[in-house]
Amino acid sequence: MELWDLGLLGLQLLLYFVVMVMLFGMRHRYGIGIFFCALGAMHFLETYLAATFYVAAPWGVVVSPGSTVLFAGKLVLLLLVYIREDAIAVRQPIYGLFVGNMLTIALIGLLRSNNVLPSAGPSPDFLFMDQMGVLMIWGTLLLLADCILIILIYERLGRLLGANITLRVAVSGVIVLSFDQFAFWPVLHAATGVPIATLFGGWIAKSAVAVVCALLAGIYLRYVERRMLDGFNHPRLADVFDALTYRQRYEKLLEHAGRDGLTGVADRGRMEGEAEGFVVQAMERGETVSVFLIDIDDFKGVNDRGGHLVGDTVLRGLADMLRGNLRDHDKVYRFGGDEFVVATAGLSAAASIMLAERLRRLIGELPIAGLTEPLSVCIGVANSPDDGNSFLSLLSVADKRLYAAKDTGRNRVIGGRETPERDPTGMLGQT
Ligand code: GH3
Ligand code: MG
Repeated sequence: MELWDLGLLGLQLLLYFVVMVMLFGMRHRYGIGIFFCALGAMHFLETYLAATFYVAAPWGVVVSPGSTVLFAGKLVLLLLVYIREDAIAVRQPIYGLFVGNMLTIALIGLLRSNNVLPSAGPSPDFLFMDQMGVLMIWGTLLLLADCILIILIYERLGRLLGANITLRVAVSGVIVLSFDQFAFWPVLHAATGVPIATLFGGWIAKSAVAVVCALLAGIYLRYVERRMLDGFNHPRLADVFDALTYRQRYEKLLEHAGRDGLTGVADRGRMEGEAEGFVVQAMERGETVSVFLIDIDDFKGVNDRGGHLVGDTVLRGLADMLRGNLRDHDKVYRFGGDEFVVATAGLSAAASIMLAERLRRLIGELPIAGLTEPLSVCIGVANSPDDGNSFLSLLSVADKRLYAAKDTGRNRVIGGRETPERDPTGMLGQT
């Protein structure tokens, strides 16, 4: 009979530990969260068994599968997390269990105040829930101490035992589980009245489990993990969560593709892909198109005087101002360096120049910290149909006018026929 129970304990340990280690091994494929959740899910059973479920092993030893298989196994698993990941990874389930247990107790406290309706099934057992609550909190506090201890001892043993990981896990496991047993048992005894036989029985059983788990962990680290990693490089099984994740990433990528990283406006590549279509569609609707080419005056000086970070702030401020002062369907592109292109439809040549003038004025008023001199821009403006009927021809005319604006003193807008007074050379209207 005792051998039967011992055999069952061994089987339970094997099932629990092997499944958990396999989940751990799959962390590179699915993330470590699955392993941690499974670990957390076992916590209630672990505590329940420690409080209520004991079996007789040979030589008069009384053991609980909860404390031995589930708790001792958990500690070795957490050491495995430390060995393969780091202490920060170990911290996650411990803090999670702690908060989860505190929350359980707080909720039970509130549930007590409910007017519970009689049900056909068993009625709630608050005394038992309280016992479990105390044990879960104390168990988790001890787990925190156990984990710190087992990691420290495991590291210290490195100097003595070198690369023999199995032996280091076994020795540190036995030491820490002994400490744990003598710290956990008094509270278990006070809460549930378990007899003294369970103290020594648990001690022996936990130590034995530590040794078996160390052996299993050693086998896993030596023979299994590498193969699992190799296996994950092969084509994957279809997993609906993968599909969801990749769709989300793909959509994010699409959102960022074609955007200038600094200012967030569309980039030159996007302009080349869509601006011509914008012009064609506007013309099909019978609307005119205006293209502005905007270039900051002496931007090199802004960078030189204020530093590149101030320069970047100017570019972002300018881009934000443009977006904020144009209509949703107008286009704003960062053409390169300190140059921006705006494409807008439905404005007369005169109205487009008024808009460009407004933008020029607003740029001069941008509140940018660190600027030592006022900011100004030149804007070359081109309008269909006078200056061309394609985006490229409009951009080319706007470019020539921008250069003319630079040549004639900066801080100005130059457009077509409507701005002769801004064209002292008398040449620009004919470009
Ligand atoms: P001009 O009045 O003739 O336009 O003079 P400028 O100094 O503005 O001359 P230019 O257009 O050649 O200078 C552009 C400068 O913009 C040079 C380059 O170092 C700077 N620049 C380009 N991209 C960035 C950027 O992303 N951030 C910052 N801070 N500076 C940039
Ligand atoms: Mg410039």
